Amino acid sequence: MIYADNAATTKLDTEAFEAMKTFLFDDYGNPSQPYSFSRKARYAISEARKDIARCINANPEEIFFTSGGTESDNWVIKNFGLPSDIKHLIVSEIEHHAIINACKHQNMCGVSVEYIPVDEKGVALVEELKKLLTRGEEAAAYCETTLVSVMLANNEIGTIEPIKELAEMAHKYGAFFHTDAVQAVGHLKIDVKELGVDFLSASAHKFNGPKGVGFLYVKKGALIQPLNDGGAQENGMRAGTENVASIVGMAKALKNNVMCLEENETKLIKLERIIENVLKRNSVEYVRNGYSKHVPGNMSLSFNGFEGEALLHRLDLMGICISTGSACDSKRTQISHVLKAIGMDRDLAEGTIRISLGKNNTESEAETIGNALVEIIGGNDWRRNTEHRET
Ligand code: PLP
Repeated sequence: MIYADNAATTKLDTEAFEAMKTFLFDDYGNPSQPYSFSRKARYAISEARKDIARCINANPEEIFFTSGGTESDNWVIKNFGLPSDIKHLIVSEIEHHAIINACKHQNMCGVSVEYIPVDEKGVALVEELKKLLTRGEEAAAYCETTLVSVMLANNEIGTIEPIKELAEMAHKYGAFFHTDAVQAVGHLKIDVKELGVDFLSASAHKFNGPKGVGFLYVKKGALIQPLNDGGAQENGMRAGTENVASIVGMAKALKNNVMCLEENETKLIKLERIIENVLKRNSVEYVRNGYSKHVPGNMSLSFNGFEGEALLHRLDLMGICISTGSACDSKRTQISHVLKAIGMDRDLAEGTIRISLGKNNTESEAETIGNALVEIIGGNDWRRNTEHRET
């Protein structure tokens, strides 16, 4: 089996797994209990918080553990804690559904939601954000109750967004800034101070940590309401007994990935080239989507005249796991909102797949993926029959 869907999830780091074990079997005490048996778990959480903070240049008090990216995103979008509260949300058109659907929920509760357009590479336009922030006579009052949220890197096409510039623009007009960095943390160098963000979401299973755990960075002084009512965990902000083993595993996985960022990037770019070279050598026509500044290993490829869903299943039969760019239902392919936002036409969008390589992939696996695509695209007897499609 060749696993090339690392943007969906990643394999657990072996050292992270080893570090977790003791907190499941031996040192399983509830970290909130005062007796000495629980001290090790409490200490482990505190060390994990420090390690994670160091990895993104934050302070430990600014890290709040959550159940993952979706929870971190929802916490910021839905449960804002300004005295006046957030009445306006501005997000990019290509956010993950954890943001888009949280915004829809807020919209039903009376919050206005506006979308920053992106260019054909998926880059959110800073000038368009400015237009949204400066419109109308009430702009200053509007901005005071506005939260801008733009993802650091897109999950479908890998595009890295100009977060520093977007955050500066939001702050210039008095708005708050959040970034969903789920696809970036553990893969790109992250410095929250340099980025200038108020909030940042991350998820461990995207960087070789365990599933069901993540964190939210909240800049000191940036207000946010507690997520849950209950115990005093996470400084009273996120009640509930901590997932000690997973928190420890997350910190270890992040530390290990951050230590090898450059090495991994060089390797992944090489693997991308191998796949593209195989396709080019065999004259396979394709379009590579996204920006040249992208998450290493994330390849969104479109093959005109083909169904992404069918490509996925053919590759699956050959033992290769990838993702589609658009999802099929029984009648009609649902074009992804990201591909729509970058202006891709329907035919090309339908033939889109995402290959996301990870640090465990090898050069020979990249060759195999390329050759498998050549074989499938070359023997194109099952190419989409466009005549019978709905328009
Ligand atoms: N945000 C982005 C950009 C993602 O890619 C994902 C997961 O695919 C999420 C949020 C949700 O993260 P989780 O699976 O940890 O809830």
